[in-house]
Amino acid sequence: MRKTYGDVVAVDRLDLEVGAGEFFTLLGPSGSGKTTTLRLIAGFELPTAGSVLLDGADVSRLPPYGRDVNTVFQDYALFPHMSVGDNVGYGLMVRRVPKKERAARVSEALEMVRLPGYEKRRPGQLSGGQRQRIALARALVNRPRVLLLDEPLGALDLKLREQMQIELKGIQKDVGITFLFVTHDQDEALTMSDRMAVFNDGRIEQAGTPAEVYESPATAFVAGFVGTSNLITGEVARAITGADGTFTVRPEKIHLAEPGDEPDPDRYSAEGIVSEVVYLGVNTRYIVQLAAGGELVVVQQNQATSSMQALAARGRQVRLVWDRHHNRPVGGADRKNEVKEIPA
Ligand code: ADP
Ligand code: MG
Repeated sequence: MRKTYGDVVAVDRLDLEVGAGEFFTLLGPSGSGKTTTLRLIAGFELPTAGSVLLDGADVSRLPPYGRDVNTVFQDYALFPHMSVGDNVGYGLMVRRVPKKERAARVSEALEMVRLPGYEKRRPGQLSGGQRQRIALARALVNRPRVLLLDEPLGALDLKLREQMQIELKGIQKDVGITFLFVTHDQDEALTMSDRMAVFNDGRIEQAGTPAEVYESPATAFVAGFVGTSNLITGEVARAITGADGTFTVRPEKIHLAEPGDEPDPDRYSAEGIVSEVVYLGVNTRYIVQLAAGGELVVVQQNQATSSMQALAARGRQVRLVWDRHHNRPVGGADRKNEVKEIPA
């Protein structure tokens, strides 16, 4: 699928297949095409090329209300003068669903979001997290096949946000509806998704499970955007691995060892000097300047290390060691077939 606005290519060569009942996340920086993708699926935009299929049927020409899809936006505006029950049942009322059925479905939707019996409250009497769940109930009450969520937790502070991530994931599991969830927050994507797609500049760089994307980033962009990663390339790659190519290795996979220890054939190693130490409580981040050139970031848990010991490592000569299988080739290797190149 492709969507352009004049000269701006918002989404390009998008080919995405989401399974029924999946919690699927679109992750990417601002302007990478996530919202446009949701709007194309919802029917608020028409594709410049390509189509949207829902359960095999082409819905590309149907208006938003003709698609079995609902959207929850970040600025979930509830009607302040209406009760929670009327807010949740509003769409049903517009569609002239009889009052009795309406009440039953509103009550069921409130149970789904774990706010049973909240019908009589006013939005002003609710916390931010509760209001967010009411917005969710308002979408769930229509029993859509697919729920589209565009940065729904973006307005919440970090603590509430982390709480709601767990809540939302639990609700999705209970109701079994396919969730298409947009975020620019990599931790959120890794925590919540069954599968995820990483967007960059209107295209999908990689799709897969959180573990696949994190452990085997397909491109340098994914490696950098999803968690911190070390990119090893050129001369340095050759010095460490004896081969050409570009590799990534996650900072937490690298161990700090004494210089000159016996090399282990199952492991890669590189000598260097610790140039910086950042003590972070649970763990410590070390920046190591390699003798072969370049630097690697290493993160170690502070299991038996005090802050004094950690900080004393600055300026020290060390050897970095990691298992060979933690060295991931970048580019091309086992890309999933969800992401195919199709002619624009
Ligand atoms: P994201 O949600 O990932 O931040 P968007 O899908 O909103 O990204 O935007 C993708 C690109 O398309 C951006 O360059 C944006 O400026 C552009 N864009 C989105 N909507 C419009 C529009 N209605 N008119 C012109 N350009 C748009
Ligand atoms: Mg957006």
